[in-house]
Amino acid sequence: MAWDFGLSKEEEAYRQQVAEFLDRELTEEIARQSWEDLGLGKEGRAFARKLWESGLLGWSWPEEYGGRGMPPIYDFILLDELGKRWSAHVPNDVGYTMTGHTILRRGSEEMKKEFLPRIIRGEIEFGLGYTEPEAGSDLARLKMYAEEDGDYYVINGQKTFNTECHYSEYHWLCCLTDKTVSPYKGMTLFIVDMNAPGITIRPMTTMSGEQTNEIFYDDVRVHKSRIVGEKNKGFYHMMEALGSERNYVFVPSRYRPYLEMLIDYAKNTMYEDKPLAENPMVRDKIAQIAVEVETAQLLADHARWMEWNQMTMTCEPEITKVVVSELEQKMVDSAMQILDLYCQLEEGSKYAPCGGRIEWEFLHSFMTTIGAGTSEVGRNVIAQRGLGLPRG
Ligand SMILES: Cc1cc2nc3c(=O)[nH]c(=O)nc-3n(C[C@H](O)[C@H](O)[C@H](O)COP(=O)(O)OP(=O)(O)OC[C@H]3O[C@@H](n4cnc5c(N)ncnc54)[C@H](O)[C@@H]3O)c2cc1C
Repeated sequence: MAWDFGLSKEEEAYRQQVAEFLDRELTEEIARQSWEDLGLGKEGRAFARKLWESGLLGWSWPEEYGGRGMPPIYDFILLDELGKRWSAHVPNDVGYTMTGHTILRRGSEEMKKEFLPRIIRGEIEFGLGYTEPEAGSDLARLKMYAEEDGDYYVINGQKTFNTECHYSEYHWLCCLTDKTVSPYKGMTLFIVDMNAPGITIRPMTTMSGEQTNEIFYDDVRVHKSRIVGEKNKGFYHMMEALGSERNYVFVPSRYRPYLEMLIDYAKNTMYEDKPLAENPMVRDKIAQIAVEVETAQLLADHARWMEWNQMTMTCEPEITKVVVSELEQKMVDSAMQILDLYCQLEEGSKYAPCGGRIEWEFLHSFMTTIGAGTSEVGRNVIAQRGLGLPRG
């Protein structure tokens, strides 16, 4: 049997088209508008529009909603190429990489027509509304409640750590709709207009300066047509959406710019009259980062390939999530050691090595093993679903 790990001629042509576009149009400023969770500014929105107008978005989406009906690999190529440049995300990535896939699988035809074309064009964004003060790892403990009232639901309660809500158009909200049964069978997923009367957003700033939010619902009315999938199946739809998140959000190529930055730093920084690159400890650390980035890429490609071939995935995307998020922490920890005491200097200081990017990434990296589910819970999933071990 021939093993071919390369791209086909058509896939390679698409990759080159994307690469040429990004080399021309993507700047660090635009990329950071996505990775700092502050929302797309004027430049980011213009970039998203150009990406669409250049015909590079939506290749893996069905034609009837504005895509090209091609296999998922085209979106993975796009994500990998973006990641290689300034660790960029696809613009408005929650819609494009997380909620959109669930709408496609579970949404009504009316919902697909309303949302998918705008998601594919990179025009709208969603904030994920899962976590509550008492329900994080264990989402079955959530309390937010939607009460039926004619053609509407009236929603009350609180969410926390809902990151994109201060700039997104829609809230992807999971709450209880039946309190009389097990929560797994009594939750429903809704799409709510972020500017609906009764929603209050209270910002929470992380230690790396990113914004996430507490969200309060006070008698917020949502039409029944905004239920995603089936009433009371929200828990299962939410798990599906989290599955998509793992394969599309944990993109190892996003660490390549850091690897290149460190190689450049080691080659161009002198210590005791020699470039740091000649120091065996420094070389080892940089080589180890390269090993781990490469390994993570192979694991991610394996899970992506399974998704593409519609194979049953038990724990493969979870393995990618655990490995990629922990890689980020290990990488930046090694980088801080290589930069030595200068590593503490922030962006803006003329003495900050690598423009202060490593210092920022160090502070940011703590959230990667928490957001989208913690590493501990991820390992439980791998043990139970992947390896058939009993619940701990
Ligand atoms: C910056 C940031 C952004 C976020 N953005 C969003 C967002 O946009 N939308 C959203 O809905 N949520 C978001 N989250 C929330 C995130 O998904 C939760 O924080 C995460 O799932 C953990 O939940 P928790 O904070 O309640 O911690 P807990 O669930 O209380 O966990 C506390 C500790 O106990 C451990 N633990 C819990 N259960 C187990 C178990 N069964 N076995 C072993 N260990 C266990 C955990 O690993 C953790 O170390 C964000 C979080 C952060 C920090």
